[in-house]
Amino acid sequence: MYGPNHHGWIEVIVGPMYSGKSEELIRRLRRAQIAKQKIQVFKPSIDDRYSVSEVVSHNGEKIKAECINKAEDIYKLLKEDTEVIGIDEVQFLDDQIIDICRDLADKGLRVVVAGLDMDFRGEPFGSTPYIMAIAEFVDKLTAVCVICGHPANRTQRIVDGKPARYTEPTILVGAQERYEARCRLHHEVPK
Ligand code: ADP
Repeated sequence: MYGPNHHGWIEVIVGPMYSGKSEELIRRLRRAQIAKQKIQVFKPSIDDRYSVSEVVSHNGEKIKAECINKAEDIYKLLKEDTEVIGIDEVQFLDDQIIDICRDLADKGLRVVVAGLDMDFRGEPFGSTPYIMAIAEFVDKLTAVCVICGHPANRTQRIVDGKPARYTEPTILVGAQERYEARCRLHHEVPK
């Protein structure tokens, strides 16, 4: 990895759900703090207000984060002395995040981005693939397939106990849904 006096760069952590993206993001940001670098962490908000929140991994690791509604909110919240930026769940931010990551890295910041590379259909998800393309470093993590135990690079969506169909809407009012990590062989998307 580049040293602290180098210019900025983008590093991306992708994979399916449960692959340890948030854990890895938190680990890298903690190490930046140990190196006495100023960090700021952002994640998309699920409600309409700014709030101070946390990135929380499935095994309970946490780091303080600022919730944003739009990618450009990063500019409103960015502090002058910030050296390292973390962004979690980047796939849920609007496309402007691509230019913002590029711009911040050009200005000398280290930009660490985590997110899903594929949606439940196994297709590229939102801005993530574009950010992967312009990044200096990309790590694709795998989870453990809940069916066979092999490395899982896909996220299985289950709605009311059955694999979600390709055309299933993203928001289903009243349905019971859950997500599982699955390998290519066991990932099911009925037409
Ligand atoms: P992500 O951000 O990629 O969804 P997290 O960092 O939040 O992942 O969580 C990773 C943790 O999830 C693992 O360390 C492990 O404790 C837990 N976990 C639960 N199910 C699985 C699975 N099928 N494969 C791997 N890890 C799993």
